[in-house]
Amino acid sequence: MKIMVTGGAGYVGSHALLKLLGANHEVAVFDNFSNSSPDVLERVRKLAGANFRIYRGDIRNTAYLEQSFAEFQPDAVMHFAGLKSIGASNDQPLDYYSQNVTGSIEVLKVMQRHDCRHMVFSSSATVYGECGDLPCDENHSLQPTNPYGRTKYFVEEIIRDWTTSWRDASAVLLRYFNPVGADPSGQIGEDGTDTPNNLTPHIARVAAGLSDRLNIYGGDYDTIDGTGERDYIHVDDLAQAHLAALDYAGQRTGCEAINIGTGLGTSVLEMIAAMEQASGRHVPYVVVPRRSGDVARSVATVDKAERLLNWTAKQGISNMCKTAWDWQTGQHAGKRGLKPQRLIVCDERKSAILETRTLGIEKPRTSSLTAGNAINVDVLCQVSVKPKRTSVIEGWHPRVLQRHAQQAHPD
Ligand code: NAD
Ligand code: UDP
Repeated sequence: MKIMVTGGAGYVGSHALLKLLGANHEVAVFDNFSNSSPDVLERVRKLAGANFRIYRGDIRNTAYLEQSFAEFQPDAVMHFAGLKSIGASNDQPLDYYSQNVTGSIEVLKVMQRHDCRHMVFSSSATVYGECGDLPCDENHSLQPTNPYGRTKYFVEEIIRDWTTSWRDASAVLLRYFNPVGADPSGQIGEDGTDTPNNLTPHIARVAAGLSDRLNIYGGDYDTIDGTGERDYIHVDDLAQAHLAALDYAGQRTGCEAINIGTGLGTSVLEMIAAMEQASGRHVPYVVVPRRSGDVARSVATVDKAERLLNWTAKQGISNMCKTAWDWQTGQHAGKRGLKPQRLIVCDERKSAILETRTLGIEKPRTSSLTAGNAINVDVLCQVSVKPKRTSVIEGWHPRVLQRHAQQAHPD
C-alpha cells in the first residue's frame, strides 16, 4: 500500500515509519519538523535500507497538502501530526485546536478529494479522563479533562462522521496509553525539540545526572503506593499496532476506536525502580503536590485490540526502561546544534580510563557528578567531545584530561 505518514519524523511516527518500510509499504512523510528534525528521517532511511519521499510543510497548508497527495497518491494516511502536551494545551488552547482539529479536517478533506480511503489516527487515552474503578474499555464515557484531550475527542468524532458520510472510507482510532522506550538500534527515540513533560524521559535524565532529582506529582492517590498509575506501552509494540490497524482498515469500511496498551498498571515509584535497575543508577526523587489535570489511574482494557487487530503488546517495563536509557545515553542524545558531553570515568590514581560514556547535551551539574553516580569509580571527570576543550569537574589537570579525551575519542 502507499501510505502518507503525517508527523512521520516524530517519536511514534518514526517508529511506525520504520515498521512500514520493513513491511515493504511505499511511504511518504509529511511533517513541518516543528517538534522533530529531518535528521531522524535520514536515520530511518539507513536503518530500513529503503527510501521515501519527504514533504516539509504544515498540514494546514492545504495547497501544499493537495500537491503532496496529487504527486504521491496515497491509499491510506497514518495521521500522527499534531501537538501533544497537556500542560501547553491549557496555556495555548487555540493553537491546539488549530493544529490538531483544523489540521485533521484539512487532512480528511484532501484524502477525500484524492480518493484516499483509509485512516489510522493517533488518539489518546486522555479522551477518557478519569477511568475510576470501571474498566477502561472503548465503551467507557469520554470526558477529557484538558484541551489536548478534547482535541483528540473532537477529531475522533469528526473522523467518525467522515466515515459515516463517505461510505467507502475506513478509520481506526488508536487510543494510545503511555508510549515509552525507543528502537533497540538506539538510532531513533523520543527526540522532540520541546522539553518533554512525560515521566520516563524525566527519570532517564535524572538517572543520567542531567537533573538533580525527579518531582513525583502526588503521593496521596488511591493507587497501589499513592503515586499515579499508568499503562506504559513500548513504542515498538505501538508501532506494530499501527501496521495491524492499517491491515484492518484496508479491508473494511467504518470506524473503530481501539485501546493500545498492555492492560497492566505501573506506578511512578515502580517506574523509578525499573529505571534504576535498567541504568544501574540511583534516581533521587521528592514528592510534590499533584499536577493539575492528572488522573490517579489510567490502565487499558486491551481485549478489543486482540480481537480485531490480532495484536497484543509483547514488551514489559524493563525493556521499555532499558531502551529509553540506551537512547538517553546513546550517540543521538544531543539536541540539534549542541554537542554531546562525554563522561570519563577514571580510576583512583587518575592513571587510566575505566569507561567513557556519552551523556547528552546538557552539562551535568558538578554536584550531580559524584562517585556515587556511577558504578566502580573513584573519580569522575567530564569533557566536551568537540571542540576538544576540556572542563574538569573533579580531579584532573586539564592537560592530562585532554590526553585521555583524545585517546578515548581520537577524532
Ligand atoms: P511528536 O511531537 O514526537 O511527533 C509529532 C510530529 O508531527 C512531529 O514530527 C512534528 O514536527 C509534526 N507536526 C506537529 N504539528 C504539525 C503540523 N501542524 N503539520 C505538520 N507536522 C506537524 O509526537 P508523538 O509522541 O510522536 O505523538 C504522535 C501523535 O500521537 C500525536 O498526535 C500525539 O498527540 C499522539 N499521542 C502521543 C502520545 C505520547 O505520549 N507520545 C500519547 C497519546 C497520543
Ligand atoms: N509524573 C511525575 N513526575 C514527572 C512526570 C510525570 O510524577 O516529572 C507522573 C504523573 O503525575 C503521572 C505519571 O507520572 O502520574 C505519568 O505522567 P505522564 O506525563 O508521563 O503521562 P500522562 O499523565 O499524560 O498519562
